[in-house]
Amino acid sequence: MDRPTPYIFDIQRFSIHDGPGIRTVLFTKSCPLKCKWCQNPESQKSKPEVGFYFENCQDCNKCVEICPTNAIDPITKISNYAACIACGACVDICENDARRMIGQKMSEQEIITELLKDIDFYSDSEGGITFSGGEPFIYPEFLGGILKELKKQKIHINIETCGQFDFEKVANILPFIDLIYFDIKHLDSQIHKEYTVIANETILSNFGKLITVFENIQVRIPLIPNVNDDKEHIKAVCDFLLKKGHKLVHLLPYHSMGNSKAIRIDYKAEIFKVKPHTKEELNKIKSQFSEFGINPITYD
Ligand code: SF4
Ligand code: SF4
Repeated sequence: MDRPTPYIFDIQRFSIHDGPGIRTVLFTKSCPLKCKWCQNPESQKSKPEVGFYFENCQDCNKCVEICPTNAIDPITKISNYAACIACGACVDICENDARRMIGQKMSEQEIITELLKDIDFYSDSEGGITFSGGEPFIYPEFLGGILKELKKQKIHINIETCGQFDFEKVANILPFIDLIYFDIKHLDSQIHKEYTVIANETILSNFGKLITVFENIQVRIPLIPNVNDDKEHIKAVCDFLLKKGHKLVHLLPYHSMGNSKAIRIDYKAEIFKVKPHTKEELNKIKSQFSEFGINPITYD
């Protein structure tokens, strides 16, 4: 059956941070948001891209010679990303693992076979499979086909979402899902748009609809210094969640790992420069969530 399918950019095994137990995490490319602090910038675009690992480059120039669009600078070996058609020729010819393709097409059956390889670990640890991205919910038909098969094996399924999706389509596949990690970034739509490129109305509306039909939602907030960590915003988030009958939030402290990944794909990538919160600052933020009636959980 023909349905839109994502490029897959990673399958991580033995994860213990993406839901209960030991999990395998499948990462799909393409995200409607472009958060300035994104920890997976390689997930944002829907098409494959080539990452350049300059520390491995031995200056042989084979990639420059083979590139059909002359996209690679002969001196720096950096690709002109506007000219790159992601043909993969430079990746194949590089003997030093300095160029890597990010994103590959896999059939639904190939994905299911890969994910089922770890089935013993899921059952031994009460773990399962997590779909992350990118935004997995923008491919509901694809996801539904895979989930239906995985559910035949009674595997626990978690979906990590930014909240920007077509609710009606996602509602059809909720019976195959056990847990949803739902990210909320900012309650002010203007600020949300400034930092993620889209407004937040659909996200907040989807959360409101989801919580009435799906029990097991974990709200996550990436805590970004000077963006969404002030007391006024924390109160607004707490009021919003309490109104929806939700009393728990998972806080994800900011770290700068995304920056080093971003320049592998595009050396002109805008670098988001903020200092991660100190332990004291995080404790203060946590106590503010508690003060406003929400139980905060953080991960170090
Ligand atoms: S083929 Fe690989 S090692 Fe050779 S110049 Fe290109 S990136 Fe560097
Ligand atoms: S993947 Fe891009 S940079 Fe590499 S050979 Fe193809 S067009 Fe050139």
